[in-house]
Amino acid sequence: MTDRELLLAAQEVRKNAYAPYSDFAVGAALLCEDGRVFTGCNVENHSYPAGCCAERVALFSAVAAGVRRFKAIAVTGWQRDVAGRPCMPCGICRQALSEFSYDLRVITGTPDDILTHNLQELLPFAFGM
Ligand SMILES: [Zn+2]
Repeated sequence: MTDRELLLAAQEVRKNAYAPYSDFAVGAALLCEDGRVFTGCNVENHSYPAGCCAERVALFSAVAAGVRRFKAIAVTGWQRDVAGRPCMPCGICRQALSEFSYDLRVITGTPDDILTHNLQELLPFAFGM
């Protein structure tokens, strides 16, 4: 799967985001070492801490399916006033992802302007590393 295909998968699942409070819909697609892809969208709640980011929804779904090693995650977000700017994983998601694949590639941007980073670059000195 190409970076572009993974980003398109993230864009597709973003359509299912439940974000009535922030109006910030996010989609994530996590590519496993075995080639499978798990997707997630953010799910908000009246009680803010009860919600979850798209990246961790995808990660937890993969772990629940028995997967522990990942190659890349594509993340895409949208909000009216920040459209066009890349959506990066939040600090909590960076930490959660580092637990399993500290060398994970993080793909953001748009299908026509893809940006890639390494998780270690985005979260140096991760807790537990
Ligand atoms: Zn997050």
